[in-house]
Amino acid sequence: MICLGIESTAHTFGIGIVKDKAILANEKDSFTTTSGGMIPNEVAEHHKKVANSILNQALAKAKIKIENVDVIAFSQGPGLDPALLVGRDFALKLSKNKPLIGINHCVAHLEIGQLTGAKDPVLLYASGANTQIIAYEAGKYRIFGETLDQGIGNVLDSFARHIGLGFPGGPKIAELAKNGKKLIELPYNVKGMDVNFGGILTKCKQLYDRKQETKEDICFSLQETVFAMLVEVAERAMAHTNKKELLLGGGVACNKRLQEMCKIMCKERNAKFFIPENQYLVDQGAMIAYLGLIEYKAKVKTTTEIKPHWRTDQVEVTWK
Ligand code: AMP
Ligand code: MG
Repeated sequence: MICLGIESTAHTFGIGIVKDKAILANEKDSFTTTSGGMIPNEVAEHHKKVANSILNQALAKAKIKIENVDVIAFSQGPGLDPALLVGRDFALKLSKNKPLIGINHCVAHLEIGQLTGAKDPVLLYASGANTQIIAYEAGKYRIFGETLDQGIGNVLDSFARHIGLGFPGGPKIAELAKNGKKLIELPYNVKGMDVNFGGILTKCKQLYDRKQETKEDICFSLQETVFAMLVEVAERAMAHTNKKELLLGGGVACNKRLQEMCKIMCKERNAKFFIPENQYLVDQGAMIAYLGLIEYKAKVKTTTEIKPHWRTDQVEVTWK
């Protein structure tokens, strides 16, 4: 059975094709800027422009025709309304008489991560708009901790934008951080299992504007601080749930320093650590197709409206 999955929650328009558990194609094109951030309507325009060529690339890569596809899946939420609508409409156009299934983007990150061999992990999901510590318990992926304000990737992107770097800023900050030497004390905001980043971002912008510190030292300190917060709550979730595996997801999880810090934490508590390949960490269509097929086989009920604020813990996980 073949499922074609469409991702369009935010900056990335992607199409993945999955046959049973094999990923046949994972093609995408992401909205970027050289300066300035991501404007929802511009993102939607980007997605409309690239949709057909990404579809053709994916079909060519998988060496199939659209007629060979059995099920169409699309990312239904959470995400930016205009971007979600482009993906949903494209899915409706492709599906004709084929079954159509709406997928929760965050749950898709979790499920595809299990290709690494993780069986029952705590997921540290660190992406642009989302930052959550998630684990499966009693029929749902429960959120044990999360950001109370913005996603960690947005924090990195916002600081990057402030210092004149374009979108996405995370990789550029990571480069600058390599040359930072001084650890500047920044607000460290962990409340129970939750985190927030607003105060840290403001402080970093002030330090930069007042030329009190170099941008390399600020980027280094920013990364050290926000990643330490994430590792602390991930570790607490592992202790609380008594789970022995940590899995990473989300674009920020491509960061080598975050990976290193997680690895040390797992080693210290004798836990296994799983990092999916970069192509499955970032937003992409393969995860939508992958979960689409699982949900289709499990006969999960679905609708076609977009769900911009759909939370991970609202999904009934009936396939496990
Ligand atoms: P996602 O929304 O999961 O596709 O992730 C996108 C986010 O990941 C953006 O905020 C990027 O700035 C961030 N990102 C991508 N690569 C890295 C990296 N190496 N280090 C830190 N952040 C990154
Ligand atoms: Mg994501």
